[in-house]
Amino acid sequence: MLGKFEDHAREILAQIEADGLYKRERQITSAQDGRISFKSEHGERQAINLCANNYLGLANHPEIAAAAKAGMDSHGYGMASVRFICGTQDLHRALERRIADYLEKDDAILFAACFDANGAIFETLLEAEDAVISDSLNHASIIDGVRLSKAKRFRYANNDMDELEARLKEADAAGARFKLIVTDGVFSMDGHVAQLPEMADLAERYGAMVVVDDCHATGHLGEGGRGTPTLTGAGSKVDIITGTLGKTLGGAMGGFITGPQAVIDLLRQRARPYLFSNALSPALTAGALKAVDLAEQADDLREKLQRLSKKFRQGLEDAGFTLIPGRTPIIPVMLEEAELAQRMAQELDRRGVFVAGFFYPVVPKGRARIRTQMSAALSETDVDAALDAFVDAGKALKVI
Ligand SMILES: *Cc1c(COP(=O)(O)O)cnc(C)c1O
Repeated sequence: MLGKFEDHAREILAQIEADGLYKRERQITSAQDGRISFKSEHGERQAINLCANNYLGLANHPEIAAAAKAGMDSHGYGMASVRFICGTQDLHRALERRIADYLEKDDAILFAACFDANGAIFETLLEAEDAVISDSLNHASIIDGVRLSKAKRFRYANNDMDELEARLKEADAAGARFKLIVTDGVFSMDGHVAQLPEMADLAERYGAMVVVDDCHATGHLGEGGRGTPTLTGAGSKVDIITGTLGKTLGGAMGGFITGPQAVIDLLRQRARPYLFSNALSPALTAGALKAVDLAEQADDLREKLQRLSKKFRQGLEDAGFTLIPGRTPIIPVMLEEAELAQRMAQELDRRGVFVAGFFYPVVPKGRARIRTQMSAALSETDVDAALDAFVDAGKALKVI
């Protein structure tokens, strides 16, 4: 039987390969940073890295690494328990308080990843008589989380507030008891920002709650890095925020939900990915505490990130590339066809620029791209070199 299944798996893999959609992982041999080393056929090579979620450059920050080491020295390596049995240390509660204070909410709850936070929230908070209304471009973890809940499901076209209003009316017509709107704060593949003030107004009018997944914003966007609620002016009208410790806030791992006390308390009692999965390690927890401290104070890094983003975006536009407009450090270069995106990534790779081609199923078919991301770990010189490489590679492939 296994032999038959292996044949079946091989057929699927061959099809993925034939479609030009096969993903190959390159091995980085250095720490995550603005410049990295990686293994290639021609031995170890160096590159400028344009595809990490390392927006403020904290992923290899010495103070965070030192805090993580100190956390391991004082609190040990592993927890070997879920939180409610014997897996809660003072460090976990300190980090939850710190995140809640930073994002100006009552309390917070930690998860192994934001994927788990999004897997937990809908099933725990909503029942069959409730409704969840979700943006069509929301992250895969939100889509999966919504699937796990028994609530009625509604979807609106990306950032389309008229459609959102229509869905709110439909939910009311269907007799929904509670309505919950959920959106990415920044849409990760395109880099644009959700229309939170308009959404908050609709939520108020129709009596709905607003949940924002701010993974691509917390730490680097908005005043103090408080994310899209601050950036857009929606502020406390965003009721609940889900986020990650795996991007700007140190880049290691872990996720969280922050919001009203009763919501966090209910999640702590009922959320399955929280109840049935191990507690975060002391090193990660202590490192994340330091990362939040650093991020809150990092106006200089946020200013640098914005400056480099503008420079890179402008340079690509001037060279004739097609970009998706936006104001975040996510700068997608559109190539449409998956194979072209792969070839462009290879051409850039040869020119010492590390990027990833994104194609179906991560983005819609025919909308393949190189998604670049700026980082405060890069220098002006790095950005100039990356622009030169893009122009060179773009000309070689007749993209520009
Ligand atoms: C990265 C990301 C996640 C997943 O976060 P992890 O902590 O890595 O699981 C969830 N939602 C969005 C929008 C993301 O960008």
